[in-house]
Amino acid sequence: MNHIAVIGGGTMGRGIAYTAALVGFKVTLQDISEQALEKAREYIENLLNRSAAKGYIQAEQEAEAKKNLFYTTQLQEAVSKTDLVIEAALEIMELKISIFKQLDELAPAHAILATNTSTMSPTEIAAATGRPEQCIAMHFFNPVHRMKLIEIIRGLDTSDATVEVVKQVAEKLGKVSVEVNEFPGFVTSRMNCLIGNEAMNMLMEGVASAEDIDKALKYGLNHPMGPLELADLVGLDSRLRNMEYLYQQLGEKYRPSPLLVKYVKAGRLGKKSGRGFYQY
Ligand code: NAD
Repeated sequence: MNHIAVIGGGTMGRGIAYTAALVGFKVTLQDISEQALEKAREYIENLLNRSAAKGYIQAEQEAEAKKNLFYTTQLQEAVSKTDLVIEAALEIMELKISIFKQLDELAPAHAILATNTSTMSPTEIAAATGRPEQCIAMHFFNPVHRMKLIEIIRGLDTSDATVEVVKQVAEKLGKVSVEVNEFPGFVTSRMNCLIGNEAMNMLMEGVASAEDIDKALKYGLNHPMGPLELADLVGLDSRLRNMEYLYQQLGEKYRPSPLLVKYVKAGRLGKKSGRGFYQY
């Protein structure tokens, strides 16, 4: 396992690329948008510079990571010699299916195809390929370089060998992994989306201010971040897609908060747009 191709250079893709390059994988980050790719490169280089300046990584590690990283808008160039693809494009099933169809044609026969979906069925995504035994979900957390967990979700046909390789990759990335049976939202998103949605409904009902809801969960329930600041970090558009999928799959309990819907309509997408539940 030498080369990882990361598809999608947004919040998650750039974090995965940074983390993988730092532990010695050759990484090609691909995005259809030239602008997104440029932003990803800037983010990664800034993070490497800052981490080295603060002494979190050595100067040699910084230089090595920079040498390990490649950027392209061409899918074929990104995956033609890869051992593992990690797809981190938008949480839209049709998009993931269309990407996996192309990956199946373009990636070498031995390559494992993983999706970083937060909620969706790896079985359904794998069914678009002729190699479902080599398809799996690797669910990373935001920000990737700081968060320790990767949820590993087997699809119906995922082989034991694929699970084993992905667990080894997770270990090399310095992460803790848990193996989860496929079910919408897995363990973490299913739980986290409900907490966030409840917080949004409380805010809408005037139970408390955003600051006080977050403070209450941090200092009363020992959550490291409040649910509203976390939703802002995730991106409210991404969170809404997660909620819509869970609502469709699991029913009423997951109906997206009307406040979340309204904020996304207004273009308040959280940290990435400068305004969500908080102003940035
Ligand atoms: P994002 O909107 O920040 O980035 C998505 C990127 O994908 C964009 O740069 C976009 O240009 C690119 N893209 C769109 N179509 C593409 C295509 N066909 N080929 C290549 N690139 C394409 O999204 P994100 O928050 O990074 O989420 C990505 C995935 O990770 C989603 O499935 C999401 O559910 C999952 N996820 C997100 C978080 C989070 O906290 N944001 C956490 C865990 C998992």
